[in-house]
Amino acid sequence: MFFNNVTKGAPDVMYHLKVRADGDMTPEKVDLGVGIYRNEQGVYNEMKVLRDAKDTMAAANPDHDYEVTTGIASFLKNAAKIVFGKDSSLLQAGRVASVQTISGTGAVHIAFLLLSRSVPGMSKIAYVGTPAWGNYLPMLDLVGLKAKTYRHYDPKTGSVDWESVLNAVRTAEQGSTFILQACCHNPTAADFTKEQWQILAQEMKKRQLFPLFDIAYQGLGNGLEEDIYSVRHFAEQGFEMLVCQSFSKNFGLYGERVGAVHAVCPTADITAAVHDQLRFLIRTEFSSSPAYGARLVDIVLSDPAREVVWRKELDAIYERLQGNRAKLFGLLNNVYKTPGDWSIITKGTGLFSLLPLTPAQCTELQDKYHIYLVNTGRVTISGLNERNIDYVAKSIDKVVRQS
Ligand code: PLP
Repeated sequence: MFFNNVTKGAPDVMYHLKVRADGDMTPEKVDLGVGIYRNEQGVYNEMKVLRDAKDTMAAANPDHDYEVTTGIASFLKNAAKIVFGKDSSLLQAGRVASVQTISGTGAVHIAFLLLSRSVPGMSKIAYVGTPAWGNYLPMLDLVGLKAKTYRHYDPKTGSVDWESVLNAVRTAEQGSTFILQACCHNPTAADFTKEQWQILAQEMKKRQLFPLFDIAYQGLGNGLEEDIYSVRHFAEQGFEMLVCQSFSKNFGLYGERVGAVHAVCPTADITAAVHDQLRFLIRTEFSSSPAYGARLVDIVLSDPAREVVWRKELDAIYERLQGNRAKLFGLLNNVYKTPGDWSIITKGTGLFSLLPLTPAQCTELQDKYHIYLVNTGRVTISGLNERNIDYVAKSIDKVVRQS
């Protein structure tokens, strides 16, 4: 017998929540759990620009050979421009090693693996601000990096716990990594202000800390260019760093697994070495990335006219998210006058909001009202629409008043 001592894996709250929500067939069901953009009709939102790219690709009928280990060169160039900007001097100087990955999760994994195995002398400590995306800690553990946590968020103010962040940076072990979400923080929606990013860069430089940016929601916060401010600012300040990029949300390509990791290096020669280490890691892990979604992204980003359409469609998405925030806040604060401070809803940006609800209140919303949210209070703002937003606000009001 070989497998008899195997125990179950660590539970994944998101998985169980989705299974429960999918199995609930009551008409009043509202799914605010899964981190996917839903449109006003409450369903998957296929961007028009994507539909058009699919037609173009179908007409071209490309073959299905493997792509090279490091990914589609043209896709990677375009992806890097979205991060660093079209006129980036770093890109012109050949100082960014970019490789394709299995979406954002794969980018984070390969980035962690690089730090843990392929960078001689690298500290094995990575700092994570909490609450955080639930995957960071197990993923760090998987590659043998040691996580240290600090408080990112202050529930009392609904904003970044700036004191705690500064303290973590100022006392961090020199050379260690800081995992930073560039925008639309998951799960708190509390991002750093531009001024805070500037101070963070100064402080991190003083202690020679290494930034690892995770950007899974570029364009869903305040627009594509605004959302990438932090990465570009750190790049301008001369940091070496890793940037993990996902196209799941901003292209609506969740299942296609489209992403990239970009390593900013001091010279073109070093960039070539880092690129080659990434190639080696990818070869031994999954050999090459899926082609379909990356080809679609490449069709859009290689054509300035299509890129304009994509940007407009993305702007409409973030504007709708902000509209939903304003409506939910208005209902709770002004219409139902629900006890509590709901201003955190409009303070945040992106797909999520961390509502000030207890786990028991969240459970009641699920069990009694068929409203599915994470029991930390995290809701996916795009799941709200004209048909359900009043029901959600009214239900929250009842649950808060009863407890
Ligand atoms: N990073 C953060 C903060 C996320 O919230 C997510 C997705 O939920 C990811 C990375 C990875 O996303 P994906 O692998 O779907 O691109």
